[in-house]
Amino acid sequence: MAVIEVEHLHKRYGQDIAVHDVSFTVEEGEIFGVLGPNGAGKTTTVECLAGLRPTDGGRVSVLGLDPGREREHTALRQVLGVQLQESGLPDKLKVREALDLYASFYRAPADVTGLLTRLGLADKAGTRYKQLSGGQKQRLAIALAMVGNPRAVVLDELTTGLDPHARRTTWELVEQIRDAGVTVLLVTHFMEEAERLCDRVAVIDAGRVVAVDTPAGLAARAGERQRMRFRPSAPLDDALLLALPEVDAVAWHGPQVEISGTGNLVQVVTSLLARRQIVAADLRVEQASLDDAFIALTGQRHAESA
Ligand code: ATP
Repeated sequence: MAVIEVEHLHKRYGQDIAVHDVSFTVEEGEIFGVLGPNGAGKTTTVECLAGLRPTDGGRVSVLGLDPGREREHTALRQVLGVQLQESGLPDKLKVREALDLYASFYRAPADVTGLLTRLGLADKAGTRYKQLSGGQKQRLAIALAMVGNPRAVVLDELTTGLDPHARRTTWELVEQIRDAGVTVLLVTHFMEEAERLCDRVAVIDAGRVVAVDTPAGLAARAGERQRMRFRPSAPLDDALLLALPEVDAVAWHGPQVEISGTGNLVQVVTSLLARRQIVAADLRVEQASLDDAFIALTGQRHAESA
């Protein structure tokens, strides 16, 4: 069953078009990623589907409700949890107070004490918002999105600014949310995050969907490209390498050569080296990744990988 359906969504801010034409469907029980460079229209898209912004065209349906209609929006708030980039909580509000306040908005809220424990915030219940670390603030934001016992949840750039440990803890929480039967729409900048968590991903660029696929499917679209990098023990002529049909490009980084290509790239290059009695020191081989797919699809290098 489709939990979220977005068809030809269009949104302008004045004369500027933020979302040209975005369509995707999120199935029940999925972790669905929305991935794209800065300013691609990701947040605008999720704000429209959460009913936080009116749309200028297209159709949006979340759990069978139209977020643009006032009565249906009220019903949607009971079943859709939303965590956006800015929490807007007052600095002096304590963790438990924030959760109790949010719980009061729902007909059937979660047990606040249980939620605090699940999110590792039990010992922070009496701490003021401004005294929380970045990771704790994000966990509180997830708790606030979950306090209404939603059937689906929107999480926008959940792990931006977190250290690697806090990021991993947050990923585990997202998996627990899905395992509890909640459908997750995850807006992210991070390839690693999409690869680790998402069942499917929509790549958005300049207000348009450029691909919807599994992370592995997206990586495969980048082709069967491979890259190998090593330090040859003796001079190696670019022309010899480029004469091999499997080799597309050769680049030097100091004493290291980087060779990209397809097919049996590694085999043909290593046998060429063996024939010339050249040893490949520090050899590294890389397959195409989601990162490569992202760059191929959006035509730009991602901030994280730059
Ligand atoms: P980021 O990854 O940087 O958060 P994003 O993909 O979420 O970006 P949006 O925040 O949806 O992108 O922005 C899409 C475009 O709309 C951008 O050009 C942005 O400057 C513009 N925009 C976003 N919000 C507003 C607003 N409230 N008023 C005017 N323009 C806006």
